[in-house]
Amino acid sequence: AAAATPPYFAKLNPTQREAVEALDGPVLVLAGAGTGKTRVLTTRLAHLLYTRRCLPGELLAVTFTNKAAREMKDRVSSLLGVDHVESWWLGTFHALAARILRKHAERLGLASNFTIIDTDDQIRLVKQLLRAEQIDDKKWPARAVLSAIERWKDKGLTPDRLKTTDGGEMAAGRAVEIFRQYQERLITLNACDFGDLLLHCLTLFQKHPDVLEEYHRRFKYILVDEYQDTNVAQYLWLRLLAQANHNICCVGDDDQSIYGWRGAEVGNILRFEQDFTGAKLVRLERNYRSTGNILGAASGLIKQNAGRLGKTLWTEGGEGEKVRVRGLWDGEAEARYVGDEIEALQRKGHSLDEIAILVRTTAQTREFEERFITLGLPYRVVGGPRFYERAEIRDALAYLRLLQSPSDDLAFERIVNKPKRGLGDATIRLLHGLARPAEIPLTEAARRIVETDELRPQARRSLGGLLADLDRWTGMVGDTPHPELAEIVLDESGYTEMWQLDKSVDAPGRLENLKELVNAMAEFDSLMQFLEHVSLVMENTQTLDQEQVTLMTLHGAKGLEFDSVFLPGWEEGLFPNQRALDETGLRGLEEERRLAYVGLTRARKRVVISFVANRRLHGSWAAALPSRFLDELPKDHVEVESDAGLYGSRGGGYGGFSGFAGFSDWGQGRTTPGYRRAQSHARGAAPKRFIDGVAEEVGQLSKPGFKVGQRVFHQKFGYGVVIEREGDRLSISFDKAGDKKVMASFVVPEDQ
Ligand code: ATP
Ligand code: MG
Repeated sequence: AAAATPPYFAKLNPTQREAVEALDGPVLVLAGAGTGKTRVLTTRLAHLLYTRRCLPGELLAVTFTNKAAREMKDRVSSLLGVDHVESWWLGTFHALAARILRKHAERLGLASNFTIIDTDDQIRLVKQLLRAEQIDDKKWPARAVLSAIERWKDKGLTPDRLKTTDGGEMAAGRAVEIFRQYQERLITLNACDFGDLLLHCLTLFQKHPDVLEEYHRRFKYILVDEYQDTNVAQYLWLRLLAQANHNICCVGDDDQSIYGWRGAEVGNILRFEQDFTGAKLVRLERNYRSTGNILGAASGLIKQNAGRLGKTLWTEGGEGEKVRVRGLWDGEAEARYVGDEIEALQRKGHSLDEIAILVRTTAQTREFEERFITLGLPYRVVGGPRFYERAEIRDALAYLRLLQSPSDDLAFERIVNKPKRGLGDATIRLLHGLARPAEIPLTEAARRIVETDELRPQARRSLGGLLADLDRWTGMVGDTPHPELAEIVLDESGYTEMWQLDKSVDAPGRLENLKELVNAMAEFDSLMQFLEHVSLVMENTQTLDQEQVTLMTLHGAKGLEFDSVFLPGWEEGLFPNQRALDETGLRGLEEERRLAYVGLTRARKRVVISFVANRRLHGSWAAALPSRFLDELPKDHVEVESDAGLYGSRGGGYGGFSGFAGFSDWGQGRTTPGYRRAQSHARGAAPKRFIDGVAEEVGQLSKPGFKVGQRVFHQKFGYGVVIEREGDRLSISFDKAGDKKVMASFVVPEDQ
């Protein structure tokens, strides 16, 4: 047996090996980025199986993403040469909790085939409940109530466990009651939302000790990656599962806790030793990922945070290249610069798969995507759709497409009830019922229908209002600068407001994307040219197996590594992000700084940070200040690149970015708000009125064939007599409903 040193031990250093071999009892590996925490966890899993401590089904391993779970399965199966990994309990908190819940659903009043509902359904449900309670949704928007509910769930709170002191303003109001009804309703619907997966599991374990015991017997060992980002519900879930065997190993890094805004509590790390007495604490200090310069820069930065446990990191990887910092004129120049740098790396033989651009907000991807498409550089956006495929961008584009071409039915259907205008499925069906047989566009069908009593008065007014708006905006095409027109359309339609009232966590990002769309438009001469560009961009699909540059958010990049990492947009307000500063002050700033630390430590060999002097907001320029994080990078590890055009004769001396006099000068002379805008109006398409032409044509198609005095039947209003004909519309005196105007095509002769 002594001879059987497992092969994977050769790939661990002594401390890592110690963490792997401490199989029994609680273990906490608390260590900095790139020190091999994930490697330790994976090897530990392999070791448990190799030494036959347990069977695969007796292990519970929690990863942060499904992708990470996949990788861990692959690594273990290649280490041990085993398969059937699909049945292992290895996945995200949500996936694992859902699996447990399905087995015991009936204990909670659910059937095991319960559905997991999405945000749209969640909001619809809350709205119904608010309406039934006659709560004014101006004062308590459904989304705000929902996000309060979600935060309670993050904390593991059911309506019963919730005290009015737990939820501030919301709890003091009637939100707790809505929460209770919401939970009851979901059970009746045999449904769960995402937060319920964990919450119901907690209830299950607490109310049914026999079930909990079953899992105590099953899971002999528990492993958790990225422990610093667990929220209270997840923490309680782990604690319940681990309380019998105490064989739990968590790995994490307090400096990488970046999900505080979603309820994660870094305090869970600090509590570990209290909750699990006799816990073994392992600290890893050698970093295997990055060069000395990258590590030095990252360590220097994170030192500025007050609330941290503190740790040392070293590497034998050599100093490597310095972290490069580059100032640029604007976002377009930044995208051009990054594109050039990537092409240069590519020429030197670097794989595109080993290059990532990590952004603070999703709106930032747009300029890079456009540049990459121009250069023909294959890229993927990880963790979200490409810019022009995002829901809010598609909505906004649908509005704009309708101004260009009123017969775009897909566009019309997409926006007719966004924001909600009381024009739901019934209205759409009615419009289709008219449009299809007559072969006319939906907008034209709508125009005819509003002249009648086919719709309920409210829907009729609302549809009439939308058509009038569309006409007015269409009339502005060509006269009003198109970025401005887009803003007008988004404002006047209530679309922007819809997201402003939205209290869900992704709403601010969507608003930023909409602003970025307006920015993008300023780069084109006309609305038509812009829309053409978009359709070309959308067409640009790539095959999956080719090498690709990765574009993703800093949040999404946790746990990953790349040879080369670009970190654009290091400007005050963007990064650190103003919203984080406004909402949570110093705590927010520290979380932003941890995010910067995560970004820097993703790189193996090189980091290029960039910032610009001018960011375009709402299609006009705003002067930007370099991020305070740049000042916090230790000078020894950083090299500031000068850009002749930008720094002029001052050169790029590293003199502290925020104090760098050059910046205030840039705003004058070269930065003229709307300077590009002026160019873009020179040429523009004349307003087009397709609508009239279409109307004339289709007018001849419809052949009503009804005579005054004829008795007819109408689906909604019943029997009546035709009293007047105007084209395809009839005035009918109905026996029961009185005088109404209806569409002739919805009427049949009485005897049919
Ligand atoms: P993060 O905090 O970013 O999640 P981590 O602590 O989980 O990082 P890993 O991803 O496990 O670190 O390891 C970082 C890199 O170092 C990986 O490429 C890994 O393969 C490598 N590595 C870890 N331990 C060793 C070792 N003992 N010898 C050689 N390479 C190692
Ligand atoms: Mg890791």
